[in-house]
Amino acid sequence: MLIVHKYGGTSVGTLERIESVAARIAKAKRQGNDIVVVVSAMSGETNKLIDYAMHFSKTPAKREMDMLLSSGERVTAALLAIALQEMGIDAIGMTGRQAGIKTDEHHTFARISSIDPTAMQSELQKGRVVIVAGFQGISEGGEVTTLGRGGSDLSAVAIAGALNADACEIYSDVDGVYTTDPRIEPKAKKMDFISYDEMLELASLGAKVLQSRSVELAKKLGVKIVAKSSFSDAEGTIIAKESEEMEEVLVSGIALDQNQARVTMRGVADRPGIAAEIFTALADEQINVDMIIQNASSDGTTNLGFTVPASELERARKVIAQFEHDFKGVDFNQNICKVSVVGVGMKSHSGVAAKAFTTMAKNNINIEMISTSEIKISMVIDQKYGELAVRTLHEAYELDR
Ligand code: ADP
Ligand code: ASP
Ligand code: MG
Repeated sequence: MLIVHKYGGTSVGTLERIESVAARIAKAKRQGNDIVVVVSAMSGETNKLIDYAMHFSKTPAKREMDMLLSSGERVTAALLAIALQEMGIDAIGMTGRQAGIKTDEHHTFARISSIDPTAMQSELQKGRVVIVAGFQGISEGGEVTTLGRGGSDLSAVAIAGALNADACEIYSDVDGVYTTDPRIEPKAKKMDFISYDEMLELASLGAKVLQSRSVELAKKLGVKIVAKSSFSDAEGTIIAKESEEMEEVLVSGIALDQNQARVTMRGVADRPGIAAEIFTALADEQINVDMIIQNASSDGTTNLGFTVPASELERARKVIAQFEHDFKGVDFNQNICKVSVVGVGMKSHSGVAAKAFTTMAKNNINIEMISTSEIKISMVIDQKYGELAVRTLHEAYELDR
C-alpha cells in the first residue's frame, strides 16, 4: 500500500516528538508500505516567525512572508529524515519545489495548480521514505509560495491525490473528529465517520482539526482521509462520501471560530452601487468577507456590518478608509466569535435553527448576526460567551449522548 502520513505542529513539536514520529513511520515502512510523509513546522514556529515580521511591519510584504514562513516546515522535514536515517530507514527530505508542487502566484494563500510526482515516485522506487515540507510550493515564476494557515493538510491531500495513494492519514494531538472541540467540551464524542460536506462545514467554521481547503480537495479527488492521533494507536475518524445512515443524523457537530472580526460602517450613503464598490475593493485585496448585514435605511443612510478574518482587519481598515466620504463612522470589533451548528440532516428537518436561538436566549447571549445554509446555522456573538455557547448547544442537540 502507498500511504501519505501528515504530522502537524504538535506531533513534531519537540525533538522527542520527532523521534517518536520517526518510530511510527519506521514501523509502517517495515510492514511493507510505501510512505510519503508531509510535515508541518514545529508547533509555535510559524507564529514565532510571524511575530518577528510584525516587529518590523504591521502589513509585511506577502512575498517575504512566504520566504520566511516556508522555512519552518523545511526544518522539520530535514530533522525527521535525519532521525529516520539513524534508525536504519532510508529517507529523504524535500522542499515543496523539489516535490513538484506548483501553485499560482497568490502569496500567503496560494492554490496548488498541479503536482509533478516524478521526483517523489523515483525516490519511492529506491525504497526511500519521502518527507515533504508541507504548506508550500513554487509558482510559475519560480517564487516560493505558502498555502494559508494549516496548509500542510492541503499539501498532504494533494500529494495523496497525485500519487493515487490508498489513504491520507492526518495525525494531530486528537484521535479523530469530535462532535465539537474536545478542549472546550470534554463530553464531546468521537465520530467513526463523517461526510466530506459536514467536515467541510465544520472545518471552514473553525474546527481546525482539518484545514477546510484540504477537505474540499479530498472530496474533489476522492481521497480518503483518516484523522488520527500521533500520541496513541486509537482508530481515528474516516472522512468519506456521505451515506444514507449519515442523513439520519440531525446535527453532527458544533464549531467555534475565534478568529473573526466585525466591521460596522455607520451612516453609509444609501445609493445604488455603494455595496458593490465596498465589497469589490475588499475582494481586490483578497479579503474574505463572511457575514453581511445591512439595516433598513432611514434619512438616506444605512448601517452596514460584516465580518472578516481577524488577521485581515488591518488591510480591511485601509480599504475602508478610501470610502471616507461615503459614511459617517466605523467601528472595528475583535471581541466577537462565530458559533455554528452543522448537520446534513438539517436539510429535511425543521426547528433546528429555532432550537439554536432558544438556547442562546436561555443563556442570555445576544445574537449579533445570523447566517444559514442547507446544512448549517452560524451566529456571531460576544467572544466571552463563545465557549459557553458551544457547551450549551452541544447539550441542547444531545450530542453528548
Ligand atoms: P495540527 O497542529 O496537528 O495541524 P491542529 O491544532 O491544527 O493540529 O488541530 C487539532 C486541534 O483541533 C485539536 O487539538 C482540537 O483542539 C481542535 N479541534 C477543533 N474542533 C475539533 C473537533 N470537532 N474535533 C477534534 N478536534 C478539534
Ligand atoms: N505551519 C503552518 C501553520 O502553522 C502550516 C501547518 O501547520 O499546516 O499554519
Ligand atoms: Mg492543523
